[in-house]
Amino acid sequence: ETTLLSVHDLSIDFFRSGAKLHALRHVDLEVRPGRIVGIVGESGCGKSTLASSLIGLLAGNAEIVSGSIEFEGQDLARLSTRQMRAVRGRRISMVFQDPMTALNPVVTIGRQMIDIQYREKRSSAEKRRIAAEMLRTVGIPDAESRLSAYPHQFSGGMRQRICIGMALLMEPALLIADEPTTALDATLEVQVIKLLKELQQQFGCAIVFVSHHLGTVAELCDEVVVMYAGEVVERGAVRDIFRKPSHPYTQALLECDPARIKTPTRELPTIPGTLPDLAHPPKGCIFRERCPKAFARCEVEAPADYAAEGAEHRARCHLLDGKARGTA
Ligand code: SF4
Ligand code: MG
Repeated sequence: ETTLLSVHDLSIDFFRSGAKLHALRHVDLEVRPGRIVGIVGESGCGKSTLASSLIGLLAGNAEIVSGSIEFEGQDLARLSTRQMRAVRGRRISMVFQDPMTALNPVVTIGRQMIDIQYREKRSSAEKRRIAAEMLRTVGIPDAESRLSAYPHQFSGGMRQRICIGMALLMEPALLIADEPTTALDATLEVQVIKLLKELQQQFGCAIVFVSHHLGTVAELCDEVVVMYAGEVVERGAVRDIFRKPSHPYTQALLECDPARIKTPTRELPTIPGTLPDLAHPPKGCIFRERCPKAFARCEVEAPADYAAEGAEHRARCHLLDGKARGTA
């Protein structure tokens, strides 16, 4: 099967007050065309850093230290700022947690949506028509007349719909959504998730959906990537991960009441212990200080990315090492 996006061995460091933080370590990720992939983990696990790296929007103090981000025949990790600008907004676009990050408060919605089409050989009237049609598609009533409204004249939920519409305007192959519903209340969140699902079907784009809500990921996504302290600890199809979590971290996340996981707004449960210091990650397994199943090997050796039960289901835990099983 073809792959749209293939991240391989991606490591990213952050420099903060003289310290070097290993924000992402040896991350592997695949996104096939038209699939919805959820990235889930506690705050500080690197999920936003990963999402930002895919669209060339890493903070200035971040550095890609290894790895590649293959997308449509290019390695995004090696593109110049200028080359990345040609990809961003056209082949890959992003929806942010706060819609105001993407909207210009002093420019009308219509003008902003026309400006996005600046490279297209279309008349202004045609660009305006396309903008109005997109507003209708994302559920803005009176789309035609609302083109002349400013961002503050819309509710928060409507603003996020507009941002999603703007992100899809150039019909990208990949949409990155970084916690797009976090600022919304539960009812609006459900609506936006439903909209994303409909739009994915209509436009056929792949979506990378960053979230700390297990329920939302279960509801929306085809596949899940579970991150912990800068590493992908488990990934696979939603049904495999939720039915047969193979990494002790995922197991801990799912150990709470399953009915509550299905509630879209369900936050990640708190598990005992704290995240490791990313400036000095522990030797061995990144999760071992909090892992109820840790054994001697976990202290000295970092686990490989092992195959788990199910198609393309993988987890970084020594317990999945077939050779060593039973010897722990
Ligand atoms: Fe736990 Fe060891 Fe598996 Fe890490 S490798 S998750 S410490 S059992
Ligand atoms: Mg974040």
